[in-house]
Amino acid sequence: MSERLELVGVAGAGTMGCGIAHVLLRAGYAVVLTDEVPQALGAASEKITAGLARDVEKGRLTDQARQQALGRIETSAQLDALSPAGFIIEAVTERFDVKAEVLRKLEVFCPSDVVFATNTSSISVTRLAATTGRPQRFLGLHFFNPVPVMTLVEVVAGVETLPETVEGACQFARSLGKIPVRVNDFPGFVSNRVLMPMINEAVYAVMEGVAEPQAVDEVMKRGMNHPMGPLELADFIGLDVCLDIMKVLYEGFRDSKYRPCPLLEKMVHSGRLGRKSGRGFYDYSTAQAGSTTAG
Ligand code: NAD
Repeated sequence: MSERLELVGVAGAGTMGCGIAHVLLRAGYAVVLTDEVPQALGAASEKITAGLARDVEKGRLTDQARQQALGRIETSAQLDALSPAGFIIEAVTERFDVKAEVLRKLEVFCPSDVVFATNTSSISVTRLAATTGRPQRFLGLHFFNPVPVMTLVEVVAGVETLPETVEGACQFARSLGKIPVRVNDFPGFVSNRVLMPMINEAVYAVMEGVAEPQAVDEVMKRGMNHPMGPLELADFIGLDVCLDIMKVLYEGFRDSKYRPCPLLEKMVHSGRLGRKSGRGFYDYSTAQAGSTTAG
């Protein structure tokens, strides 16, 4: 691989951008990580440092490899720091206009042969690709949270994506120790088309008084063998992210079965976003995290 291809640019240093950068470093890539919020970059650096130390403890990395990995990351609040990268992964907020703006800027300073991948959970890859001048070299690479642990990457081809772009991205995903699964571009792809309506329905069950959040989660864990209940998982993903995805499904299919639950909207509007804000369906503010807060 050329030097340029070994340098991967990641736009957005939130939950996903940070996890993706960690996995890239672990696999031997050099990384430039950008975010418009400097505090997000500081938090991401701390999280990545801690994550790599945990990899050493668990025997996934030698201490020497950890030190080398830490020397291969650069962070910047300027998007144009991504210009030397040979591959770009966009992981900014799940809003079409926010992503389109970032992609339009990247288009200006990234060479035209560089592949752009979006980590969107639900937005049309074809529509995002059309905001760039390289729809043939644009695709979705949908990583899962927590990225260092989850092995799946949904590889989403847009209408114009070339087969070699898809093949190259699958190889890239394998080089990170991930399992790529190819899907076509449709709202929510496969993962969130199936998962999010289930989470949304679980929120309706709480709103309508069918059961408390803990009971809903117990039913799904013990009865359906899910490792996490849907509401625990929603808190983990971020309730704002869940709401954004439901809106994309609702607008994309124009079908009332995807209508975001009013309780989900209410919780997001009140700032209860799940783990990241300390409160969602459960309370994470105390040492005894996991107590129910919503109803
Ligand atoms: P997040 O809110 O944790 O992070 C988003 C980051 O993007 C923030 O740090 C924000 O400051 C930054 N950002 C926003 N606008 C920017 C801009 N113009 N320039 C640079 N940075 C900007 O969100 P997240 O959970 O990391 O999600 C990121 C993407 O990954 C979304 O598309 C989401 O749908 C997708 N995703 C999320 C999950 C999940 O479980 N959270 C899973 C898979 C995919």
